[in-house]
Amino acid sequence: MTKLSQEERLSFYKSKAWRQTREVILKRDNYECQECKRKGKVTTGERLDVDHLLELEDYPDLALEPSNLETKCVMCHNKKHNRFVKKENKWNDEKW
Ligand SMILES: [Zn+2]
Repeated sequence: MTKLSQEERLSFYKSKAWRQTREVILKRDNYECQECKRKGKVTTGERLDVDHLLELEDYPDLALEPSNLETKCVMCHNKKHNRFVKKENKWNDEKW
């Protein structure tokens, strides 16, 4: 399967289809982080993302597939993608 480029992903996230699907998923999940829920915690609020369980980049066919989508809080979402680690590495590289 062909991977999506960063540009293609950005334009996907701006699309009307994604915005509508995102709303549907948030409602389905009662605006609660599903990852926290599995740990017995309730996390709601405005900082919720809809996460692709199988990455959009690798599985563009599942981009709007509800069974591949899950509500996550920003903390859990960042954890999954190791965003902080990546940032740290980058910083170290620059320092070097
Ligand atoms: Zn969470």
